[in-house]
Amino acid sequence: MQTKILKIDNDHLDDGSAMREAAEALRAGELVAFPTETVYGLGADALRPEAARKIYAAKGRPSDNPLIIHICKFEQLGLIAREVPPEAKKLAEAFWPGPLTMIVWKNEKVPYETTGGMDTVAVRMPGHPAALKLIEQSGCLIAAPSANLSGRPSPTEAEHVAEDMDGRIPIILDGGPVGIGLESTIIDLTEKTPMILRPGYITQAMLREVLGTEVVTDPGIIAADSAKKPKAPGMKYRHYAPKADLALVEGEAGAVIEAINRLVREKQAEGLKVGVIATDETKSFYRADYVVTVGARSDEDAIAKHLYKILREFDEWKVDAIYSESFSTPRIGQAIMNRLMKAAGHQVINV
Ligand code: AMP
Ligand code: MG
Repeated sequence: MQTKILKIDNDHLDDGSAMREAAEALRAGELVAFPTETVYGLGADALRPEAARKIYAAKGRPSDNPLIIHICKFEQLGLIAREVPPEAKKLAEAFWPGPLTMIVWKNEKVPYETTGGMDTVAVRMPGHPAALKLIEQSGCLIAAPSANLSGRPSPTEAEHVAEDMDGRIPIILDGGPVGIGLESTIIDLTEKTPMILRPGYITQAMLREVLGTEVVTDPGIIAADSAKKPKAPGMKYRHYAPKADLALVEGEAGAVIEAINRLVREKQAEGLKVGVIATDETKSFYRADYVVTVGARSDEDAIAKHLYKILREFDEWKVDAIYSESFSTPRIGQAIMNRLMKAAGHQVINV
């Protein structure tokens, strides 16, 4: 299959034929990759089983890992949910369009192909003009996971999608780099107490404040609780994995630099190519084959935005081992560390 990359201008979406072509492809049951504010999504008509199946085939995704349905109006939640819980309305008013996915009970219109066999469905209204326009213009509710091959870092630019999906899907809409760079927060509203299944840009504190109630985090995604299984099927896979062996090094800044430099020398002595993930403040202290900065330590948004791109770069450079500083920043640090820990297969070196 030939993959077309169609450039779009997010401020002038009615210009040109790209959006029309993409909307037609979706209506015909085909796949379209498109930008959202979190990462690029790989979309298909959510209510057609054979269209949803194509997503799993293109990504090589395990069929028990459900998809998120993207909508462009709040009322569309009522088309796929058995009932719309009052919490959903409150959260939508506060955070939609935006990087929050809600889990509700599904109705009979939603095929099990889309929900990976589950009786619940994940729904989000993305905060990106091209994504909203595509949903509206196609007339479809769009099932879309991240547009990477299963196990690769999520794509934050159209080029990353092309790396993984060239020849596997007909259309990639190129709306430039995304704004956030981490997948949406997932909150499960079918639990007695609303439960975060995946941390993201919208934090537990923000959710609590809007709901005015307790919000818990799935014990299955907290590293210390690794005996428990995560409730979101996707969280159990070793996602976001770079090809190289990645380890996080935690401790006081000076000790971390010293330890990483020593580990790099040891690996290099074995003839291996080694990379380091640093910050603007520490970059110049490292000696390795590749030293890459995620940005200033105080700039959480930059760290989130650059993380996946950096992991992909290391793949390209064919490094054998990567050492990373840890980023337990105040607001989205939990989300950043959750992705990094998974990429590292939970390898942490404490110094
Ligand atoms: P992705 O869009 O690739 O970030 O993947 C979607 C994430 O949402 C995966 O981790 C899924 O396991 C999770 N998810 C989707 N639907 C459900 C659901 N009904 N219940 C729990 N988790 C879900
Ligand atoms: Mg994904």
